[in-house]
Amino acid sequence: MDFLRRLFGGQRQHGPPDNGLHLYVRCSRCGALVHVRVHLYNDLAVDYDDNENVSGYWLRKEIMDSRCFRLMYADITFDRNRREIQRSIEGGEFISAEEYGRLSQEANGRKQETG
Ligand SMILES: [Zn+2]
Repeated sequence: MDFLRRLFGGQRQHGPPDNGLHLYVRCSRCGALVHVRVHLYNDLAVDYDDNENVSGYWLRKEIMDSRCFRLMYADITFDRNRREIQRSIEGGEFISAEEYGRLSQEANGRKQETG
């Protein structure tokens, strides 16, 4: 039966392209985790070169956590194909999706222990 599974289940279908950029940040003050989704076509500002061609895109995003409500400012620049070139953030730090998942699970676990 194994070869059948390989035959029919082996090909992973990719869903429709997701025009979203997912940002996972941690507040440097209280440690709260925030997940923000940025739309790569609606949310980016355009940069033009001297010939008024699109040279790239950029995003300045205000992010607020739900614990201490302090604003964090994420700055991200993209090339003309909307591929990320670099990112920086004030007031917090970027974490990976895996870290976000792990840390939020830990936070939930703590809540259950004390609650
Ligand atoms: Zn905070």
